[in-house]
Amino acid sequence: MQARKPILKKRVLAEAGIVVAAGLSAVAVAHASLILPASMRTPSEVARLTKAVPAPVARPAEDEVLIAFEEPVPGRAIVSPFGLRQLPWEGNGRLHEGVDISADSGVPVVAVADGVIVEAGTKGGYGRFVAVRHAERLTTYYAHLGSIGADVKPGVAVKGGDPIGRIGSTGVSTGPHLHFEIRDAHRRPLDPAMFLGKAFAEAGDLPLDKAKRYSGRVRMAYVSFIPESKRALMDAKNNPTIVVRRATTDAQDLAAAERNLQNQARAAARQEKIDGLRELSIGPDGRPRAQLAL
Ligand SMILES: [Zn+2]
Repeated sequence: MQARKPILKKRVLAEAGIVVAAGLSAVAVAHASLILPASMRTPSEVARLTKAVPAPVARPAEDEVLIAFEEPVPGRAIVSPFGLRQLPWEGNGRLHEGVDISADSGVPVVAVADGVIVEAGTKGGYGRFVAVRHAERLTTYYAHLGSIGADVKPGVAVKGGDPIGRIGSTGVSTGPHLHFEIRDAHRRPLDPAMFLGKAFAEAGDLPLDKAKRYSGRVRMAYVSFIPESKRALMDAKNNPTIVVRRATTDAQDLAAAERNLQNQARAAARQEKIDGLRELSIGPDGRPRAQLAL
């Protein structure tokens, strides 16, 4: 387990400041009530008495950060990036609205930052999923989960690094992995790669605008295997099947490659009509060698 990064509390501190100010005002009013019964005070007197107590200003220390993102599956790499991509059985590219992180079923998935759980359940292609709302009205989504933590329910507060569920392959998924999304206040998907492992000191430092952009280039997505249900689609598209089950051993493949080379060498010798050709062999560089009778 790596050391946790500092998680912000600028906004929380600001709210705490208001609470403290309200508490002091209540004290001021309580003192005032010793002088004058509450029922006899005019609103302007209450306002004057309340104003007399200066509200403390909450100033966050300089090293405090607004929001810090941890990895949703610590130590695991993104295997499929955010952006336009095309699956081998699809006719067109479409936007991959998050990133895929490969891990075995059962590996814990953690909240990437402090927040409040807003959704936890099952939905179409997402399968079993959890959504967490964070500072700056960012929402993170954790999809294809095998299981969701028993106490992970809407309204529950989480800290960055808290486990929320485990890796699975529920919903539309070709194997165990986490599909992870970050959306802005307007539900627009942002590139999670721009956030993970980063801390932000001020709201203006959040790469919201940069993260909104995605390349118009369509990438052919890597898939670890092609589901049986998609093979008919690929045949209909007349796509060559990319995954071929291997029926031979390494030794058989090597022997076949050698035979192939020798055949090539003989064919080359015939074509060039080498005079005095006695024998052909394959050199250490893998190219044909001719032994000539001179
Ligand atoms: Zn995905």
